[in-house]
Amino acid sequence: MNTLDLLVKNLTKLPGIGSKSARRVAHFLLKADGSWVHELASQIGNLQKNVKKCEHCGNYTDKSPCPICSDPGRDRSVICVVEQPEDINTIEATGDFKGLYHVLTGVISPIDGMGPEELTIGMLIHRLKGGTVKELIIATNPTVEGETTALYLVNLLKKSGLKISQLASGLPAGGDLEYADRLTISRSLKGRRTLLKAEEGLRSIGILNKEKPLF
Ligand SMILES: [Zn+2]
Repeated sequence: MNTLDLLVKNLTKLPGIGSKSARRVAHFLLKADGSWVHELASQIGNLQKNVKKCEHCGNYTDKSPCPICSDPGRDRSVICVVEQPEDINTIEATGDFKGLYHVLTGVISPIDGMGPEELTIGMLIHRLKGGTVKELIIATNPTVEGETTALYLVNLLKKSGLKISQLASGLPAGGDLEYADRLTISRSLKGRRTLLKAEEGLRSIGILNKEKPLF
């Protein structure tokens, strides 16, 4: 396979890039300014080396703690729990949230072999035990897995004394936080609902088998 076809083949592995788009990108790069193409290539090459996860929240950052965790102006009494680092950008874009974040790095999904242990829940509990946090906003995606994860957290923390809320509905069911528009997320943040009892839901889907007291 020649150089061009190899690049096209690799580009199709990117999310949202089909073979037609991949070919268009490859041809664009061939005709583009050489120094820019080199810069782009080196940025891609250095990405995994330079970008790490924040030791506190799991956000992607060049320097840990990340700019959000190290910002003295942020409200340390509220943590917004998200699935992935990119969800932080989505919520930050609304400008409505001034607290801190916690990235779970996924959701509970038995089909994909993702249990609560695979997520950063232990790290979250560690942060909560500091006593500064008073409220948790669960901003997992409105999918079955996202809801399952939210219910799991509610149940786990129900005796913690924390106020736990979830982004209000208005987000498209089965949708992705990343693709929801700013206004929807902004409304969703303001209209967040407090979650009360969630054990029944968890029992029915078999998540709640053993209960480990955390607080
Ligand atoms: Zn951070």
